Amino acid sequence: MALIVQKYGGTSVGSVERIQAVAARVQRWRNDGHDVVVVVSAMSGETNRLIALAEEIQPEPTARELDVLLSTGEQVTTALLSMALHSLGCSAVSLNGGQVRVLTDTAHTKARIKSIDKERIQSHLQQGAVVVVAGFQGVDQDNNITTLGRGGSDTTAVALAAALSASECQIYTDVDGVYTTDPRVVGNARRLDKITFEEMLEMSSLGSKVLQIRAVEFAGKYAVPLRVLSSFEEGPGTLITLEDESTVEAPVISGIAFNRDEAKLTVVGIPDIPGVAYRILGPISDANIEVDVIVQNVAEDNTTDLTFTVHRNDMARAAEILQNTAEQLGASEVRTDDKIAKLSIVGVGMRSHAGVASKMFGALAQDNVNIQLITTSEIKISVVVDEKFLELAVRSLHEAFELDQAV
Ligand code: ADP
Ligand code: ASP
Ligand code: MG
Repeated sequence: MALIVQKYGGTSVGSVERIQAVAARVQRWRNDGHDVVVVVSAMSGETNRLIALAEEIQPEPTARELDVLLSTGEQVTTALLSMALHSLGCSAVSLNGGQVRVLTDTAHTKARIKSIDKERIQSHLQQGAVVVVAGFQGVDQDNNITTLGRGGSDTTAVALAAALSASECQIYTDVDGVYTTDPRVVGNARRLDKITFEEMLEMSSLGSKVLQIRAVEFAGKYAVPLRVLSSFEEGPGTLITLEDESTVEAPVISGIAFNRDEAKLTVVGIPDIPGVAYRILGPISDANIEVDVIVQNVAEDNTTDLTFTVHRNDMARAAEILQNTAEQLGASEVRTDDKIAKLSIVGVGMRSHAGVASKMFGALAQDNVNIQLITTSEIKISVVVDEKFLELAVRSLHEAFELDQAV
């Protein structure tokens, strides 16, 4: 008898029939003698629909009110799933974030969980009920409703599993595990039996949306056993493991992540003197714009260029700020480009293997894909390319590193 936290994503609760199928699965776990806490997302498309409604009224909706609106999506599915369980004769109770008391900071639309009260959940479990919790939401210290950022139900599930010391946190979704790359882009992508927390963290932060990055961070920090599985078919899924269990014969590359959400800004002809990077990037960060890749060129004629990437939604604002700084610095030009994509190869095996980068660049060269920017860390290499080459580049790297072959 164990305590299991299960999370069902939008597609998995996207219709009445699917909600009934989830209820049947939860009941099977109950019948096997387990305590079950279920976290649900809103029905697929619902969060986007709510955002669109808000934007019809206010182009940049007030964040507090947006959270009140968005949190309703998850409240609908908690009630429907509880009803579906009741109709199977299974005791269940729905709770929203405030009722559990998922306490967060006050950063509306991207709040972080600070603590979770487990008493109410535990008392329902003791009475034999399945507890169905609304994902993606919490309340701040003044009881204002907050949400955790897109994909945030994953984080609710992992945080609950950590708070309740669950035996496993199971993320049920529309694919049967974590793949070498997005199976919607590469047909012969392969499901991984396991992947390390560290690699999963890179995959998530570099664009694989199968798990929200904060969920992976949480799982790593609190050593929550985490598994990604299909809600449509039975199977072992992918286990996210601690590194020492799987590095012995780690493949050099575990996966390829990519991201079409970034835009590139370059300021050309800036004086090559101390403090310039700070003067350029300081105002960007003061405007709360996150900067990702940063590359500065070798100086020539006492001037240099600086290029960085930001989220596409932030490009216009970043360009305006940059234009201003460029004028102050006497730079010759500001260039922007939102038709870019970033792709990254990830693997802990990279630490002990040479030649990974040249193999990557060789494969891209063979397909005539021009590399615009390169950044590396110990376990990943990222390149920025023209968006139109993204899918070709992902497929070509998948082949070059033989990711479709079983290890
Ligand atoms: P949910 O609604 O269940 O949270 P998401 O849409 O957030 O589901 O995440 C699942 C999707 O993530 C898959 O349908 C798949 O297209 C995408 N995905 C991206 N990269 C990967 C990967 N490496 N492995 C598996 N799925 C991936
Ligand atoms: N419903 C939210 C979203 O679409 C949260 C989630 O599904 O995890 O982003
Ligand atoms: Mg998701």
